[in-house]
Amino acid sequence: MITRKKGCTAGVSVAGIAVKYLFSIMLISAVALFTGCSGNSAEENVSRDNTHAYIVGGGIAGLTAAAFLIRDGKVPGKNIHVLEEMKITGGALDGIGDPKKYYVIRGGRMMNLPTYETTWELFQDIPSLTDPNRSVMDEIKDFNNKVKTNSQARVVDKDRNIQDVSRMNFSWRDRWDMMRLGIMSEEACGDKRINEHFSPHFFKTSFWYMWSTTFAFQPWHSLLEFKRYNDRFIHEFPRINTLEGVARTPYNQYDSMVLPLLKWLKEKGVNFEMGTKVTNMDFKKGIKETTVEKIHYLRDGKEGSITLGKDDITIVTNGSMTADSTLGSMTSAPKLITNQQDGAWSLWKNLAKEHSEFGNPSKFADHVDESKWESFTVTLRDPLFLQKMKDWTGNDPGTGALVTFKDSNWYMSIVIARQPHFINQPENIKVIWGYGLFPDQVGNYVKKKMSDCTGEEILTELCYHLKFEKDLAAIKKSAIVIPCMMPYITAQFEMRKPGDRPEVVPAGSTNLAFIGQFAEIPEDTVFTVEYSARTAATAVYTLLNIDKEPPPIYKGKHHIGVLWDAAVTLFR
Ligand SMILES: Cc1cc2nc3c(=O)[nH]c(=O)nc-3n(C[C@H](O)[C@H](O)[C@H](O)COP(=O)(O)OP(=O)(O)OC[C@H]3O[C@@H](n4cnc5c(N)ncnc54)[C@H](O)[C@@H]3O)c2cc1C
Repeated sequence: MITRKKGCTAGVSVAGIAVKYLFSIMLISAVALFTGCSGNSAEENVSRDNTHAYIVGGGIAGLTAAAFLIRDGKVPGKNIHVLEEMKITGGALDGIGDPKKYYVIRGGRMMNLPTYETTWELFQDIPSLTDPNRSVMDEIKDFNNKVKTNSQARVVDKDRNIQDVSRMNFSWRDRWDMMRLGIMSEEACGDKRINEHFSPHFFKTSFWYMWSTTFAFQPWHSLLEFKRYNDRFIHEFPRINTLEGVARTPYNQYDSMVLPLLKWLKEKGVNFEMGTKVTNMDFKKGIKETTVEKIHYLRDGKEGSITLGKDDITIVTNGSMTADSTLGSMTSAPKLITNQQDGAWSLWKNLAKEHSEFGNPSKFADHVDESKWESFTVTLRDPLFLQKMKDWTGNDPGTGALVTFKDSNWYMSIVIARQPHFINQPENIKVIWGYGLFPDQVGNYVKKKMSDCTGEEILTELCYHLKFEKDLAAIKKSAIVIPCMMPYITAQFEMRKPGDRPEVVPAGSTNLAFIGQFAEIPEDTVFTVEYSARTAATAVYTLLNIDKEPPPIYKGKHHIGVLWDAAVTLFR
């Protein structure tokens, strides 16, 4: 009996706790239901109706920052102001054209599914332009399931022989240097250049031809950034010869990413103040804290300013890889601008003058000879060129990724994307994109520096490398080639030391954050869309004190299988 009673008592006590627990949950749920809150976090109750956010720059960093402010920060869209000096948003993530004239992309983007964590996390919430029930991310995944990259002609020699690049051609010294770099700390890399770590042989390996043209590295670039790439994209190393790991968007990234994001932001009421060049900011004098009080800008040649309220924030894109880029034509070469006419560098330089914690813009902005290169977009009104490429490489458009002419004096590569590459591109028009990493060299066939060449001359050089010279006249007749000079295209790979890039939210800053390619995110790789999106998420979560972080960085080197495959490739 006693035992039973005890048992019974114990039974009553457990049941009692369970009832109380259930009752509490029901009570909390009822309150949550009544107040319209899910009860997950305190942030959801925070009102940000009085917060205005001024975002300098309408590139992907600025646009994603606006989206994070709305989605995670609950800042009303009408309180967000994007100040952009150009007449179009998207920044370096561009793509524009008119089927009656021609198309231009300054850059063709390769993405990666495992490592663009923040980007995909946001774009899974951005509705597709064509089907609002699906996300942009769904579209990108479907596209990549359908159109698989598998390059059959990744590297070509001077006689147009397709090279067998399944082997990396490393010497024992190269392997040792690669392994050494893998375990070196960032501090040990210091402000060394890549060619200070590797021997000349390394720059003749198949690995270098592929890695350097996929990611646009030059031997004089920062060893530290190169190390970050080796670490972050280690899972791509074994398949760098086929580029199977490359993810693409259905159209160019302006049409596939910027346009849907822009539509979503506009529907939420975000203000786009175009043609507004931000020139400087005033700061409240404080001993420990730095607070922006006023933003100065130029619009239509007139000066103006915005005074920030106590709840307001500003998020600044400092620096830009496409600042001062210029276009040429079929009959003219693009001009090289070196006196920093666009606002990106001058604003950062002005801000950093009296704030050492805002970094050292000169490290990135004042070495145009090391940071420039040239791209070109070819609009073709005849399928001949694409047909010849397909016959020779065996790759359908969109499956070949990059073709690199390793012996080209301009170090030229071309990309044939899936057609159409633009939403408004008719069936009879084809668009291809290419670039030369050595624009100051004289061509192998056209005896001029690439930077002095017209669009027509660039096409001639390309057709000679491809041995298409018999069809050159016909190809030229149907083509419009627009060259594009980008003085700062690899400025983000310039040598730097800790502190040269500001923290996203610098120490002591109460209402200012830096976003884009020139703010510091530990371990991540610049020259990517992901880096810009990650800075944007970090800026919003930190400034608004939101209890959330961007998704963790994928670390292939922590996976034994990835490490094993990389080790095998090193000896392949
Ligand atoms: C040729 C090329 C190839 C690329 N390849 C790849 C690739 O394969 N994979 C990949 O992931 N990424 C690639 N990228 C990089 C990617 O496009 C960029 O990293 C990204 O778009 C940068 O976005 P952002 O917003 O940080 O900066 P930006 O795009 O530079 O935008 C900055 C914006 O701010 C504006 N701005 C700056 N200062 C001011 C001011 N003071 N006042 C007003 N407005 C201002 C500028 O006008 C600009 O619109 C490539 C880029 C190019 C050009």
